[in-house]
Amino acid sequence: MTSKSPEQISEEAKLLIVDYLNKIDDMKPKERTQIPVQEMPAQDPRQRIKNLDEVALGYTIEQARIEAMRCLQCVKQTCVDDCPVKIDIPRFIDHIAHGQMKEASDVIKEASLLPAICGRVCPQETQCQLNCAVGKALKDVDKSVAIGRLERFVADWERATGKVSIPEVKPETGKKVAVVGSGPAGLVVAADCRRQGHHVTVFEAFHKLGGVLRYGIPEFRLPNEIIDKEIETLKLMGVEFKTNFVVGRTRKLTDLMDKDGYNAIFVGTGAGLPMFMGIEGENLVGVFSANEYLTRANLMRAFEKGKADTPIYPSKNVAVLGGGNVAMDAARMAKRLGAEKVYVVYRRTEVEMPARKEEVAHAKEEGIEFYFLQNAKKIIGDEKGRVKAMECLRYELGEPDASGRRRPVVIPNSEFILNVDTVIVAIGNGSNPLISQTTPQLNVNRWGNIIVDETQKTSVDRIFAGGDIVLGAATVILAMGEGRRAAAAINKMLAEEIEKEKAAVN
Ligand SMILES: Cc1cc2nc3c(=O)[nH]c(=O)nc-3n(C[C@H](O)[C@H](O)[C@H](O)COP(=O)(O)OP(=O)(O)OC[C@H]3O[C@@H](n4cnc5c(N)ncnc54)[C@H](O)[C@@H]3O)c2cc1C
Ligand code: SF4
Repeated sequence: MTSKSPEQISEEAKLLIVDYLNKIDDMKPKERTQIPVQEMPAQDPRQRIKNLDEVALGYTIEQARIEAMRCLQCVKQTCVDDCPVKIDIPRFIDHIAHGQMKEASDVIKEASLLPAICGRVCPQETQCQLNCAVGKALKDVDKSVAIGRLERFVADWERATGKVSIPEVKPETGKKVAVVGSGPAGLVVAADCRRQGHHVTVFEAFHKLGGVLRYGIPEFRLPNEIIDKEIETLKLMGVEFKTNFVVGRTRKLTDLMDKDGYNAIFVGTGAGLPMFMGIEGENLVGVFSANEYLTRANLMRAFEKGKADTPIYPSKNVAVLGGGNVAMDAARMAKRLGAEKVYVVYRRTEVEMPARKEEVAHAKEEGIEFYFLQNAKKIIGDEKGRVKAMECLRYELGEPDASGRRRPVVIPNSEFILNVDTVIVAIGNGSNPLISQTTPQLNVNRWGNIIVDETQKTSVDRIFAGGDIVLGAATVILAMGEGRRAAAAINKMLAEEIEKEKAAVN
């Protein structure tokens, strides 16, 4: 995204800021829109494809303050309107411009509990930055105020300076809340319910906590250290975690209430069931779901060659099917695991690709090749049942479909062969049916997503749900938003019960 080195970017910002600091409160909007957009310093692509370290390195303090000065402090705050959790964006940005980082952090935390994570992975260009007045004035969404990068800066500053505050926890209420799943939805519920003094236990099927944040999104985008810090804060607040605990197998969902005395349950089990294309050859050795591929690499540490218990399949030429963040992560991981050629095969064009723009740009810099308007027809195996090639078809765009995106239409007789030894399918995820199958009274829709009301309550009394298990595969911030709503409803329900119990005693 930038050809400048981190050192060069830092030096330029140090020089620029001197002038801006002299007139920080006196600049007219026009002058503010002329302040140069601050580029994100990043690891050199030639180096980073050999390691798993974070690609984006974060703003320096001078860069953050200059970027913050670009904000016009609008009266009509479209950025706030477009933020799913309604962070008071202009207020936190104004604090950054004035060098008040602690105050900036406090503003963000009023609405968002995981800013270091959201600042890194939220699709800002389709949310808060989409209608930013600066981007509109400059007729380029890429020139909007870099809200996500500023959010990340503040969270990282707080961590680096050791000024992370532990949220206050009210006195113990004696009520127990069970949270099933430790992804972003579950973590938010755990924090919000614990704050009210309820005993909270998080049950997680895996041996590690964090959900997709840990096993899906690679460390080069979201370092584990950041997830660990957020979980550490929850532990310090008194939240209890039980790993290797598969609700529905280890214990039935309703048993948590009927036998273990929990007063409320939140189900945040995500969308972990990979979808496949349903084409010939998908059962060949060398075909993976992106979920399996990334879980092996991230959670089972397969990139630690020679050390990991679950070594990864050695690949030279890899095709990744799909165009979302999951596809970008799988493609970039394959490159880091030693593949010489990695192709992303997507049946629409770059415009329709749902992946974050930054991830696509980084993937291109890392040498990932994009095959747009193409898709797999069948996967071809050798005599040992291993992938040796993929037959593809070319497409063109037709009329818009139900999603509003133009429908890809096959060009007849356009078949061609792509020589690959590995195929990673990243076309989406569905809900895991375990909980709904073992809790038949829980209403689900035809895709297996749990049906909830406007407070995230399910068809079963005292059971709430949110995140991908309700929405289908969505985003971190939407999962957090649902978690917040569910926690508010659980807290309200338990507070009313406590009042009733007190009244009965008196
Ligand atoms: C590779 C990848 C990249 C992504 N990139 C982005 C991105 O850049 N930006 C973005 O906003 N979103 C991204 N997403 C989507 C985002 O991560 C999800 O929308 C979000 O994590 C959903 O949160 P959740 O809490 O609902 O579920 P999850 O994060 O899926 O967590 C669910 C947890 O529940 C556990 N669980 C499941 N069943 C049980 C059970 N029966 N008992 C106990 N525990 C159980 C699972 O092990 C898991 O830990 C990405 C997703 C993937 C897969
Ligand atoms: S829309 Fe853009 S310029 Fe206006 S307040 Fe929000 S971030 Fe600042």
